[in-house]
Parts: sequence; structure tokens; C-alpha cells
Amino acid sequence: MPASPQRNDAPAAPPAAPLRVLSFDVEEYFHIEAAHAAVPRTDWDRWPSRVEASVDLLLGICDRQGLRATFFVLGDVARRCPRLVPRIAAGGHEIASHGNLHDRLHRLDPAAFAGDLDVSRKLLEDQSGQPVRGYRAPTFSVVPATAWAIDVLLDAGFAYDSSIFPVRHPAYGVPAAPDRPFLVNRAPGSRTLLEIPPLTLALPTLGASSKRRHLGVAGGGYFRLLPEMLMTRGLAQAAQQGRPAVLYFHPWEFDPGIPRMPLPLLGRVRTYTGLESAAARLEKLIARHRDARWAPMAELLPELTRQARARPVFHLQAEAPIATVHAAGEPTQA
Ligand SMILES: [Zn+2]
Repeated sequence: MPASPQRNDAPAAPPAAPLRVLSFDVEEYFHIEAAHAAVPRTDWDRWPSRVEASVDLLLGICDRQGLRATFFVLGDVARRCPRLVPRIAAGGHEIASHGNLHDRLHRLDPAAFAGDLDVSRKLLEDQSGQPVRGYRAPTFSVVPATAWAIDVLLDAGFAYDSSIFPVRHPAYGVPAAPDRPFLVNRAPGSRTLLEIPPLTLALPTLGASSKRRHLGVAGGGYFRLLPEMLMTRGLAQAAQQGRPAVLYFHPWEFDPGIPRMPLPLLGRVRTYTGLESAAARLEKLIARHRDARWAPMAELLPELTRQARARPVFHLQAEAPIATVHAAGEPTQA
């Protein structure tokens, strides 16, 4: 009896280590959106700079844990602290752009955004001696209303964006967007850009017609304000589903000494909760996940582009993006 051609006696390949990216949005505490009204730009010089010590603390965590990260640096920080970007780059980390003056894209138009990108990128490339390939918008403000930003990023030569958060949130989020790397364009037929979204946890849907529910568990306030078990569960789910897990943090989140700004109550809670324990918690979290493959985004671009190309292109400006990306009966919501 002939052997079955399907039979395969070769040992199964070991499962690949989960892919994870640690990223930081490097800004001062007074740059945050919650302080936009309370600390206007004209007052920034009156508030003490705190960012360098916090970044040094984060570089120490990366060194001890033996991993390299992606630092999305704000142009204004690079200008105020000209020794900071060279220090980060010297550690083998990727320098990417968080824009110049931390304007949500809603406050810019395409020409102003192009200028903002150009200023920050030139500064970061001069200081780091490395090409800047990635961008993350302040407050994840690449959303359908600012879909023009995709074309501006492409015109500027950026290789990837990490600003579309596939969650429901009052200030940002594109709930219909994929929860893993994908190609995005402004509208059908437009040029595409690689998008690398932050980590979300898919929650069970409540019925056949219910909406897809994704909880942001990637870091920031989610890390400081929600039970850590949710992020741990998100990391495990991403590994199981073969999704890379992108985490993000801000240096000021690790500095309990940042001055108290006159913020509204909700802004105060979101900004000042959990700062004392954040550094120890982050280091423990990474130490528990040392088996993963941690790498800066720029080093993963061929792999992530391959993954993204296997999925439908996501049309950010389209009226019904869900119908394109998630065929299985989700409601239209952009
Ligand atoms: Zn920011």
C-alpha cells in the first residue's frame, strides 16, 4: 500500500516567539492634550523640563531587560534638550517622530501638518544621524476626519504610521480599524501606508448583531488606570492570534515629581494617577515577557508589511470601512 502523500513525519517547527514592540512618545508633561487649555504654548517656557531624567530611567529599564525600543520624539523636546536624542540613539533605539508642537491633527490642515513633520524630522535626523521612518500623531489623532494625513505622510516619505487606535474613545479611535498591522489609505484608490496599531484586547461580542468590542490595553493611561491583568490578557491574546503587540508609554508617566498643572478633575485623574509605581510595574511586565521577541518597529518593517499585505486595505475616509474590512455583518461606524 503506497504511503499517503499527505503524511509528514518532519517534526513540527517550534512556535515563533511572540512579537512585541515597546514604544515611547517623548514629550514633556505640559505638552499633553489635557493641558492644552490650562498651559498654553506661550507658557511652556515657565514650566520646568522633566523629560531627560524620565527618558534616562526608561533607557535604564531597556538596558537591564536587554531590549531596544522605538522612541517617537516631539520636535519641541529635541530642540529644548539637544543631548537627549543622541543619547537614545546611542543605545541602539529607533528615533521616530511625534510631530513638532504636539498639535492634534484636527487643529492642522495638510500644509501645516507637512510643515510640522518636516521641522521635527530634520531636527531628529540631524541629532540622531539616523533616518526617521515612523510617525505617531499626538493623541492618536489619525481618524476619518483627518484622513488627509495619510497622503501627507506618504508625500513626506514616511515608511509607517502608528496612530490609528482601533478602539472607541471620546477623543480618538477608529473602532472599525484592524487590530494588527494593515495598509491604510485615505480613500479607495489612494496610495497606501503601513499602519501599526497599538495593542487591543478583543472582548467577546454579546450576540450575532452586536458591535465588535476592543479595549485599549497598550499602555499610557490604560496601563496606569486599569487592572494590569487586562494588559497581560491582551499580550496573551495577541500572541495566540499571531498579532504583534505594540505598547506605548510617555516619559512623564514615570515621574511622580511632575508639577501639578491646573487641569480639570478628569484630566488630573488621568494624568497623575499611578506615576509612583509605573516604572517598577513596567520593568516587571517586561521581565515576565522576556521570552518574546522585542524589537523597534523599523527593524520589523519587512515582516509587518508582509502581514499587512495579506489583509484588505483599510479606507480611512470611507463611509463604511467595516464593510470592506470585516465582512461578517458588523454595523457601519466610522
Ligand atoms: Zn503625545
